[in-house]
Amino acid sequence: MRELAERLGRAEGALPAYVYDLDGLGAHLAAVRTALPPPVELFYAVKANPDPAVLRVVAQRADGLEVASGGELAHAADGVPGARLAFGGPGKTAAEIAAAVRAGVFRFHVESPHELRQLGAAALAAGRPADVLLRVNLPATAPEPRAAQNASPGSGARLVMGGGPQPFGMDPVLLDHCADWLAGGSRAAGALRLRGLHAHLASGLGAAALLGSAGRVLDFARRWCARNGVRNPEINLGGGMAVDYLRPGARFDWPAYGRGLALAARAGETLRIEPGRAVTAYCGWYVTRVLDVKPSNGQAFAVVAGGTHHLRTPAAKGHDQPFAVLPVAAWPHDWARPAAAAGPVTIVGQLCTPKDVLARNVRLPGLRAGDLVAFGLAGAYAWNISHHGFLMHPEPGFHYVGTG
Ligand SMILES: *Cc1c(COP(=O)(O)O)cnc(C)c1O
Repeated sequence: MRELAERLGRAEGALPAYVYDLDGLGAHLAAVRTALPPPVELFYAVKANPDPAVLRVVAQRADGLEVASGGELAHAADGVPGARLAFGGPGKTAAEIAAAVRAGVFRFHVESPHELRQLGAAALAAGRPADVLLRVNLPATAPEPRAAQNASPGSGARLVMGGGPQPFGMDPVLLDHCADWLAGGSRAAGALRLRGLHAHLASGLGAAALLGSAGRVLDFARRWCARNGVRNPEINLGGGMAVDYLRPGARFDWPAYGRGLALAARAGETLRIEPGRAVTAYCGWYVTRVLDVKPSNGQAFAVVAGGTHHLRTPAAKGHDQPFAVLPVAAWPHDWARPAAAAGPVTIVGQLCTPKDVLARNVRLPGLRAGDLVAFGLAGAYAWNISHHGFLMHPEPGFHYVGTG
């Protein structure tokens, strides 16, 4: 990574750039796989990073991809033909559902009774059965106190997507409506095969908290599936494995999580997970150059090329993005090189907004204009969640290390 970053730094106009370490991604995925017991299937949530090269590496080692829009569906089907796709997410349009049925999607994660009926109509019209998991919004799934302890400040605000009122999934009473309709004998219902339940309740949890959540989901799903005659149920436990942005060397405890799932699994069941962030975050770097360094009212600012319109993650999650400085000796001008003094420095981008902050008050004595900064943990929810059009700066380049 470092060698490529320094090479890009010497090339005219090559920075800012994203660098994806495909070999690192492949090795990470292999380790994740090893930690998961056989009944657990690993899907990858494409919304974390849909880069085509990243998807190819992931698809080689995962059991499938979870897509959350017609756009992601078309992109994944095009980029990794033959990959098993699960189509989830709220607000699927009739056109998206019809296209997904025609494309032979592996599983539909259904978000509402209305969506189920639309899917039934589409499957009937296409003459092609569709396989369904109903997405449940479990009541009383407020994370336990230990979940809060488990999530360090660096993992950022946890995104809670289950429990209280949510646009995601269905209350148990709506699940029962779905089951009644499926059992009602209509031709549209006959075009659907109910395989089990899906739950993605929160993001940013440690292994212990996530296992606690999985236990509650399994408990509910087993009873619900037994009551509704779903044999050999599939239970999708969602994603949400934490990435700790304050401790970039830390990793979600996949071995502990895998051991917990092995204990929880029962014969005949398929357990499936669909992480995004904890799969690809570590393989991405956003490499840029310090354009200027200056003091302001007792604080120092380093302005880098690009900014949060390329890497929105720290602004979105409210953390300092971890980084490494790659010093550059050359200085082409005949005036003094702007440099940071001993005090803290705030690293900002080129946008005309005070929100364009990548890292606040970091110790960087000697950081100079012309040095390179490589921001890590930029492989998930980074480029693709950023507001690229704002201020019309050029887009970053994309580069890859290895082939995965
Ligand atoms: C976003 C999302 C995921 C992935 O979440 P991560 O926190 O990136 O692991 C999985 N499933 C669903 C339904 C999601 O919305």
